[in-house]
Amino acid sequence: MNKMIRGFLFSALATVSAVSIATAAIDSVAVAASQVITLQIQGLAQEEAMDLEHGLGAVPGVSLVKVSSDLGVAVVVYDPVQVKPDLLSQKVQEAGHLASFAKANYKCPKCTAAYEKAGDCIVCHIPTEKV
Ligand SMILES: [Zn+2]
Repeated sequence: MNKMIRGFLFSALATVSAVSIATAAIDSVAVAASQVITLQIQGLAQEEAMDLEHGLGAVPGVSLVKVSSDLGVAVVVYDPVQVKPDLLSQKVQEAGHLASFAKANYKCPKCTAAYEKAGDCIVCHIPTEKV
């Protein structure tokens, strides 16, 4: 390998790492502005949970969705500028399920998702804390 090629490869690598640092900065800004909401969903089968996860994930402004058919719960991380909680519950109802906002008896200490019952956060897989 001659010196010119080596120099080119080095500058190419430097460019790649600069781009990934810039992207990480944008991600942390987006996370800081986002909100978390928990929807209680009645009678949700496991295969329906997957469909619902994809359906809610397709809503513009939604950055993360986790649905648990065991708990009958959907946790949605969203940008409050682009999405309102009512739209999310409306989407669940359009999919044929009854949705209500969860009472915040327990909260995840990491992502702040609220739960009615004690247990592990379905996003972070850590125990929730009594509010
Ligand atoms: Zn969590």
